[in-house]
Amino acid sequence: MKCTLCGEQTVYVRQYDKLALCIRHFNEQMRKRVQKTITRYKMLGRKDRIAIGVSGGKDSIALLDIMSRIEKDFPESNLVAIIIDEGIENYRDEGLHFAKMNAKRLNIEHHVFSFKHDFGYDLDNIIEILGERGKDREYGACSYCGILRRKILNKAAKEVGADVLLTGHNLEDEAETVLLNIIRGDIQRLVRLDPKPRKIHHSLVPRAKPFRTTPQAEIVMYCYLNDLEYQEIPCPYAVEAYRGDVRDFIFKTQEKQPMLSFNIVRGLDKLLKLVNDIPTSKKMQDCTKCGEATASDLCRGCWLKDKVQSIKELK
Ligand code: SF4
Ligand code: ZN
Repeated sequence: MKCTLCGEQTVYVRQYDKLALCIRHFNEQMRKRVQKTITRYKMLGRKDRIAIGVSGGKDSIALLDIMSRIEKDFPESNLVAIIIDEGIENYRDEGLHFAKMNAKRLNIEHHVFSFKHDFGYDLDNIIEILGERGKDREYGACSYCGILRRKILNKAAKEVGADVLLTGHNLEDEAETVLLNIIRGDIQRLVRLDPKPRKIHHSLVPRAKPFRTTPQAEIVMYCYLNDLEYQEIPCPYAVEAYRGDVRDFIFKTQEKQPMLSFNIVRGLDKLLKLVNDIPTSKKMQDCTKCGEATASDLCRGCWLKDKVQSIKELK
């Protein structure tokens, strides 16, 4: 099959628009779409110091690679990779290796932050202390991991002086988050998915997802075609995620309806235009313990730290 755009040998056919692409045009389309997403949602300024959260998985490694190319056209901005070590045995070390290796390869400044250093416990310790899920522990490991990762990523972004923090969430991740918020009836959280980075509290670094319109399959293909090395094994805690069911639904339905995730994300964008005057977040205040943004007295990170400490003392 020939590339629709130039007639060269095709390496990938997009199912949703049947565009056949050679390697050069595949890469060009990927990078153009990221650039278009950044421009459309005003994600970056010309002089921004841009932090990228890098886990070592396919999404963050591809984002790092694409941003390093885009950023070359903006000499007044610069990139910095933030790598978080959650402390997960037989898993995290490999991700850290790929994250650091790719940052070095692209000559991007990088910094590693850890749960252990900032919170006092590894994720493995936390799960051990909180006990078995459904018996002693209320939520899946990803809930606790997410609370701490969000907090440490923000702290790290501030420490490195970033204006904006980018994450590698892709099209299906965004579609999943939209569906999950609808399933939970959490409309406040749904409208907070506004793709424009916004400063909603003095201590929060604005966030953006330049891959929110890029399908996962194309990210995998981008890594493959460009010989990008990334961590492929799944996190041992991933089986506990409620997201799994919604994720399965999306990928299964997408086989028959390739536009599904695009439609969900576009639907969110249309909804956001209609609800512009609805308050998008509860009033944020400073956490009484650490000063970070929170909707109640204590931020979720400090709440979790207190909980882990009190259970540990009882044991
Ligand atoms: Fe954390 Fe869950 Fe991701 Fe594992 S799968 S790194 S526990 S959020
Ligand atoms: Zn706090």
